[in-house]
Amino acid sequence: MSREVRRVALDFDWPPGKVWEGYLRPDRLRGEKCDACNGSGQTHFGWWLQKFSYLMGMLADDVRDQERGKPMHPWLVQFPRPHGHFVYPVPDDPQSGPGRFHIDRPSPDAVEFFAKLMNVAPEELAGEPFGRDPGDVVMRKLLEITGVDVSCQPCEGHGSLETYPGQRADADAWEPYGPPAGEGWQLWETVTEGSPLSPVFDTADGLASWMADPDRGEDWLPEETARKFVAAGWAPTAITTAEYGVVPGAEHAGWNSPE
Ligand SMILES: [Zn+2]
Repeated sequence: MSREVRRVALDFDWPPGKVWEGYLRPDRLRGEKCDACNGSGQTHFGWWLQKFSYLMGMLADDVRDQERGKPMHPWLVQFPRPHGHFVYPVPDDPQSGPGRFHIDRPSPDAVEFFAKLMNVAPEELAGEPFGRDPGDVVMRKLLEITGVDVSCQPCEGHGSLETYPGQRADADAWEPYGPPAGEGWQLWETVTEGSPLSPVFDTADGLASWMADPDRGEDWLPEETARKFVAAGWAPTAITTAEYGVVPGAEHAGWNSPE
């Protein structure tokens, strides 16, 4: 948590603890959720394609898993109609048991295939924990080849709809702005977007005295520390009654933490 001293207009009047409105994008710039894509910005087919692409990429992962002696990922084991062969019971052999289906796990050419698709060395592919994920590339390549755009058309991939024409441009153009500048002194917290903590004082000493007022309870500081803090302009939080002896950021202004 950070605190800082700001110079604001003497008549600046904003409730302490409330985020300054200039830091919050106004509601009027917020679009409506797009129902066609549930706000995701992609068509339902696009999401299916993404899931299939991800599954396809897992074939390369599975080659690596086999090299590491790991079992097949449940998503592949539970694939509705996996590739494999039927193992028939051997007549008159009590050890053979009943017939069963055996999944044939993907062979190493899966790695070669996806490495070529992704234009990377096979060693870079599907290694844990830093391996690349082939799924994204599968999807991108397929979209490239077909030229199909799976971004949601009604919202043009934004996931939200304008409530008036030009709203998106307005939202993009919006920039946060600070409180009106001036001769006043005020303590702010910058953990949230930023909100004032103290009243506005017309002198630095006024603010320091407020910070050093024991009646204020929390965040009380010795007068000397408060003055230095105001002079330094800022310091990361940790300034509490118990911890004021270590005021991080003190060195920033060239003064030592008081004992
Ligand atoms: Zn949409």
